[in-house]
Parts: sequence; structure tokens; C-alpha cells
Amino acid sequence: MIAPGSTIGILGGGQLGRMLALAAANMGYRVHVFAPEAELPAGDVAAQVTRAAYDDIAALDAFAAAVDVVTYEFENVPGATVERLAARVPVRPGARALDIAQDRLAEKTFIAGLGGTPASFRAVASEADLVSALAAIGTPAVLKTRRMGYDGKGQARIATPADAPAAWTAIGGAPAIVEAHIAFDHEFSVILACGGDGATVVYDVPDNAHVGGVLDTSRVPAPLAITRHAEAATALARRVADALDYVGVLTLEFFACPAGPVFNEMAPRVHNSGHWTIEGARVSQFENHIRAVCGLPLGPTTLTANTVTMTNLLGDAVHDWARLLADPSAHLHLYGKSEVKPGRKMGHVTRL
Ligand code: ATP
Ligand code: MG
Repeated sequence: MIAPGSTIGILGGGQLGRMLALAAANMGYRVHVFAPEAELPAGDVAAQVTRAAYDDIAALDAFAAAVDVVTYEFENVPGATVERLAARVPVRPGARALDIAQDRLAEKTFIAGLGGTPASFRAVASEADLVSALAAIGTPAVLKTRRMGYDGKGQARIATPADAPAAWTAIGGAPAIVEAHIAFDHEFSVILACGGDGATVVYDVPDNAHVGGVLDTSRVPAPLAITRHAEAATALARRVADALDYVGVLTLEFFACPAGPVFNEMAPRVHNSGHWTIEGARVSQFENHIRAVCGLPLGPTTLTANTVTMTNLLGDAVHDWARLLADPSAHLHLYGKSEVKPGRKMGHVTRL
């Protein structure tokens, strides 16, 4: 157990780290953020910050010596970084979860091996591969880089086989997968917290609406078209957690289809579709993640209201803050990012 008063190291410095750090501070922990970017929303609320590259060995060793446990808010931390840290200090969740979640091909293969159902997919390493994969899985389809995609970046939609060359160019000819386009009814996610002792808690599944590949709104309770799949989807998330000896919050995203839940992707971390849990659940995903990585008992996930809606403030929507503050049902969260860009996650608002 890592007792309150100890220092939690967080790899990554974005808004997820910021909300983790705030939850940790509430429980008497100190947080040390390690990230390379100049502007660090998490660093603004942390006791200590190391601003260094993920391959800066000296900085990593000093960080490992200064913290009692390491976790991450960003899953694209290089494997070698985690390996270096894990030889010196507990890293939770472990390196294997990170490894699998970094690569869409490894991730979907792993999920299929556990009995989950991803969209039909093929590995693509060249334009010729893409053409033959499309002949096998059909169109419409979605081409996605294997690594480093987020918020719909590194993806190209393919309506007909004739779109293949343009799609391959659009993703920069990087190693990719192509998958069938799913005509889903809804999207939802399973957010599971796993303690080190085998205990788990799970949140109500949110109904997630995306706009242009970016999460716009999460709502609970979700409609029956989603909740009827919650048991099967949660069972898959538990199998993932078991297979990885997982500790911390784990998120799986799904498409709700008439025949059952279709797996989209997993995140070995707290997730945007769980931001509503700060006010909308008895104990938030952030606090439960801190509890889990520190070996504390997990807290209840029960809803605090009949309905909870979280809306992202993307780009210019952040300028609405004064109007949002005037709404007594709205809880405003701003991430302190100085540059407003279209589609950038600047904050969110939760309504109970
Ligand atoms: P995020 O960081 O928001 O999770 P991402 O860049 O990792 O996004 P995905 O989750 O793969 O990308 O895709 C983003 C969104 O694009 C999905 O939530 C969904 O709305 C849509 N999408 C992705 N793949 C498919 C598909 N095969 N069929 C239909 N829609 C899809
Ligand atoms: Mg996604």
C-alpha cells in the first residue's frame, strides 16, 4: 500500500493528469508530473514537475527516485521509458497494458483472442495491402494508423475502393489497420476500476456521442439499446483486466449494434467518457484510479443524480464559461490551456 502523504508520479501532463492530481491532493498525496510539453495542465496543480523528454534517462532515474508509485494519463509513453521506471519503482497499470493499447493491431487481436468482437480488420503496410484488404472486408471502411491516433486523428474514411490511394496518402503511409465501417446505433464505454487485491468496481455505462471523431457528450443513464449490452461488454472488460493483471482504471469503447457490442478500442487509463463521474458518481474515476494504484479500497460508483450529462468544451466553446457559470445545474471544468484551437479539448461541463 502507498499511504497518503506519499508521492504519486504521473507520466503525461494533460487534463487527465490534472484531474488525477486534484483527486490525489484531496486524499493527501503529493503528485509529481513528468512530461515534455511546454504547457502542462497537470503541472499547474502538481507539487512537482519534471519537464523532460520520455527518453531522458537521467531525468527518468531522478523521477523514479523521487516518487513512490508511477501511473500515466497518456498511453503513448515509449515502452523503454516504462521499462526503465518499472525496474526502480512500481508502475501501475503495468507495461503490457500500455504495450497492447499503443497498437491498434495488437489491441484488436488481443480482444478477439478474449472472445470480444471488433469490426473486421486487416493489417495494412502498403497501398497494395489496403486494396486487397478492402476486397476482403468491403466498403465503407476506416483506415487508421496503428499508433499515436487520438481524437480521430490518423484516420481516413473509405467510401468505395477508389478512395484507397487518397486514404493511404491522408494517413501518411504509416503502418495501419483498415476496418469495416460499423453502422452503429450508439457508442458507449465501460469504465472499470481494478484494485490490486482483485476487487473491481464498474460505472454505469455512458452513452457517448462523437462529432467529427471527437467525443462531444456522455450521458447516463444510457438508453436500453446500450444497457442491454452492458453485461457482455463489462464481462469482456473484466477478462481484459484479468489477462493483464490490471491495476487502475481501464476503459473499453464499444459500438452498440443490434447483434451485440462491437469493440472499438481500449484505454489503459481514466477516460474522457468518465469525466461525468466527478460530480455524477459517489467516487470519481480519478479518485478510484488513485485508490487503485495506491492499493487503497475502491469507492462506490453509484450515481448521485437521476441523469448526468457531460459536454466537452471544444475550441471556441470555452469562451462560454460565464454563461455556463450562471447555470446552477452546471459544473464547469477548465483545463487552463492557453491556446484555443478548433476541436481542442479546453474544458468540460457536467450537468446533474
Ligand atoms: P479517441 O481519442 O476520441 O478515442 P481515436 O482517435 O482513438 O479517438 P477511434 O476511437 O478509433 O479513434 O475513433 C473515433 C470515433 O470515430 C469513434 O468513436 C467513432 O465515432 C468513429 N469510428 C471509428 N471507427 C469506426 C468504425 N469502424 N465504424 C464507424 N465509426 C467509427
Ligand atoms: Mg476512441
